[in-house]
Amino acid sequence: MSQYTGECYCGAVKFHCDGDPFFTQYCHCNKCREIAALSKRDKDKIGYAWTAGYLASNFHITSGSDGLDEIIKNNARLLLCKSCHSLIYGISLDVDKQAGIGINVNNFQFSGAFPESFEPVRHVWYVNRVVDIDDALPKFKDAPKEQFGSGELWSGDESK
Ligand SMILES: [Zn+2]
Ligand SMILES: [Zn+2]
Repeated sequence: MSQYTGECYCGAVKFHCDGDPFFTQYCHCNKCREIAALSKRDKDKIGYAWTAGYLASNFHITSGSDGLDEIIKNNARLLLCKSCHSLIYGISLDVDKQAGIGINVNNFQFSGAFPESFEPVRHVWYVNRVVDIDDALPKFKDAPKEQFGSGELWSGDESK
């Protein structure tokens, strides 16, 4: 099985993940944006978050787990490095939605070619965006049904 390692911007928090993500996606929700804005890394502050979906059981913090700040927002628990404030991962507060977690892709360190399994598959919460994106990926108004959203796609002719 492939294994991917990562660390926060300052290197205090290190982790690895077993296997490939279920998917990665761009999230434009207010929560993701506000959390990303706290980071000391410019790449986190582009107006939306790039997140990899993993089973919580396949995610392992290998150092720095005592150096995490916790922020509770919009029914999610977000864990950030205390020093560089980069988001490490987020998990729902709903017990029945806690199997999957979202990990900040900017923290992964890929050796060699960028893995195909990390190519983003969609934009979510696109109605909340602060930047327009001109790409071919599906853009969901909120989230797909499997992520407890309406599943409705943004059609492109609606105002923000
Ligand atoms: Zn850090
Ligand atoms: Zn979000």
